[in-house]
Amino acid sequence: MIRQFELIDMVKAYDPDLDEMLLNRAYVFSMKAHGMQKRASGDPYFSHPLEVAGILTGMQLDCDTIVTALLHDTIEDTVATYEQIEELFGLEIAKMVDGVTKLSELEYTSETSKQAENFRKFLLAMSNDIRVLLVKLADRLHNMRTLHYIKKPEKRARISRETLDIYAPLAERIGMQELMNELEDLAFPHVYPEAHESIMKRLDYLYSNTENVRDEVIRELEKIFADNFLDAEVVGRRKQPYSIWKKITFRNVSLENQADLFAFRVIVDDVAECYKALGVIHNTWQAVPGLLKDYISMPKPNGYQSIHTVVIGPQRKRIEVQIRSTEMDIIAEKGVAAHWRYKNESSKKDNVHYRWLQDLLEILEHAADPEEFLEHTKIAMYQNQVFCFTPKGELINLPAGSTVVDFAYAVHTNVGDTCVGGKVNGEPAQLNRILANGDQVEILRSKAQIPHQNWADFVVTGKAKAAIRRYTRQQKKKEHITQGEEILKLSFEQEERDYTKKAITAVAKKLNLKGGSATVFEKVGSGELSDRAVLEIVFPSLKNKQDTISTSAIVVDKSRPHKAGDNQLPIKGLTSGLDVHISKCCHPIPGDRIVGIVAEGKGIMVHTIDCEALEVYTDTPEDWLDLSWQYPENKSSIHIARVNITLKHVSGALASVLLLIAKDQGNVTNVKFIERSIDIFRIELDLEVRDAKHLTDVITALQASKYINSIERAYT
Ligand code: MN
Repeated sequence: MIRQFELIDMVKAYDPDLDEMLLNRAYVFSMKAHGMQKRASGDPYFSHPLEVAGILTGMQLDCDTIVTALLHDTIEDTVATYEQIEELFGLEIAKMVDGVTKLSELEYTSETSKQAENFRKFLLAMSNDIRVLLVKLADRLHNMRTLHYIKKPEKRARISRETLDIYAPLAERIGMQELMNELEDLAFPHVYPEAHESIMKRLDYLYSNTENVRDEVIRELEKIFADNFLDAEVVGRRKQPYSIWKKITFRNVSLENQADLFAFRVIVDDVAECYKALGVIHNTWQAVPGLLKDYISMPKPNGYQSIHTVVIGPQRKRIEVQIRSTEMDIIAEKGVAAHWRYKNESSKKDNVHYRWLQDLLEILEHAADPEEFLEHTKIAMYQNQVFCFTPKGELINLPAGSTVVDFAYAVHTNVGDTCVGGKVNGEPAQLNRILANGDQVEILRSKAQIPHQNWADFVVTGKAKAAIRRYTRQQKKKEHITQGEEILKLSFEQEERDYTKKAITAVAKKLNLKGGSATVFEKVGSGELSDRAVLEIVFPSLKNKQDTISTSAIVVDKSRPHKAGDNQLPIKGLTSGLDVHISKCCHPIPGDRIVGIVAEGKGIMVHTIDCEALEVYTDTPEDWLDLSWQYPENKSSIHIARVNITLKHVSGALASVLLLIAKDQGNVTNVKFIERSIDIFRIELDLEVRDAKHLTDVITALQASKYINSIERAYT
């Protein structure tokens, strides 16, 4: 176990200005907090955070990160609290410890690669501070190093699978090759025991026959560099079993063909010498065409730089050589943190850790190489997404701003349709609660629930929007059908005719409507078809009898304009020869104060004096005509007025309104439903009346109705 003073020395070696007191406090705090806890190995638990801290000193991380490593399991596994840590170590460290705790609480369960990709993105998004991710990776590395102490093979396999799917790719992504290799090779035997065994056997055999080749290659390389006055260090390393296995599996290469049982590495001082070394090698041995890769001029997204070439070496065996500078070598093995240290060894002060963090973030942000095994999408991209969990731990990926309802619909349309509330991290939450990264969301459902139209105001996912729209449409249709039938029944009653559904089915047939009587009801309910028209189809004799209130008189303003001077429109002050239209916006009726507007090509539009549509003409008084109604008016003259009514949403309400209107000799020609909610609905009625006084009588009668909340004449 690393002793307290040893840890201090390890950090001091690269950061002489460290806060020794802080580090000591963290060491003691963590040791006390973990107390008598034991690891599976039988070691005191405290050895684990200590080793994690040790791994991070190897990456030369700043003091705060080392402290975070020491404390990383205290919130989760001991009685220590976030508040305590904040008080003792400050907000920044407390936040980082909290971040690591949150990452540890996430359990990666799914087997699909889609989930793995989501999970990696999620970890990145959660690690607001990249140091949180580094502590998590070091934590995982130490757990993998001690994995063999865990007794259950299934548990070892699960942890190892997670390491291969999630943590090794993340390590590669942030340019920590060495860490990635170690994680992979530790996990390999637990996830693919048979493959591991056979590969290791085969490698043993191959290596026993090739070790002499390796030594020969190294000697030859050293000789040719010396001949060319090039100062180079040459290493020949065995390649990682897992990376060999990956190549065999994913690229279908047989083991015998592997040029890269060994990776030969040539390390020189600078970039110019890299290319010089390449020239020397190619002059000595024949290069295999197409296998030269220049990652110096085109670095990998994670910052990796090197020249790779494959040549036919001694004993006519293919060998792979990687050429790089010392600086590139450090980046490749230890990642950007170490690189930054290397570059700035002389100038210690000046926010060391923030500078390298910036480098790392830049690499992550500019990564874009589809060839890579990993998705190298911008880290910023994940800021537009949130990753939440079902109670079973399944990961749901949603756009930022998503709510409980979006989550419910993402799980399943039925879940969305019937959700009544939710629990976010165990706490009750409203349906419009905006979800945050890492939230665990449980949806509360009720069979009686239906999607509400107002959900559309806060949901953000297309799926939720579409489902709500679809449902509202269906619902509207249902209501139109019920109300349409109600209107028709009443209309029949008014004419003292027997109402039968059969008659309505016949109407549907006659009008060529699919869906039978229901379609007729729907159209009447929505106002597309008037009840009067239906009545007249069933009883054609009504057409003549009701001539005074006939539908043909209603169409006044629809298709047939009136000629000025026509008897039908009792209006004084018209210019003869022009068409006259009763405007549809305000439906003026006798008794209203009216004006005419002369519109080019359209004739005269008649408006009420307070119609809003007149506002546009205030600057052109020459277009105004002073009009008035002609008295005494023609008794049979019928006019249309429009009223807005807010009704209580109870059965029979609409019927009672229509009856009241009928009593006052008004006739409803059109009903349009504007809005519905649980307790009210708003309708727009077009009424046939004789004049303004008649309309006022009707409105007064309606105001007395217990079903009506409000009624007013509509001018627009
Ligand atoms: Mn841990």
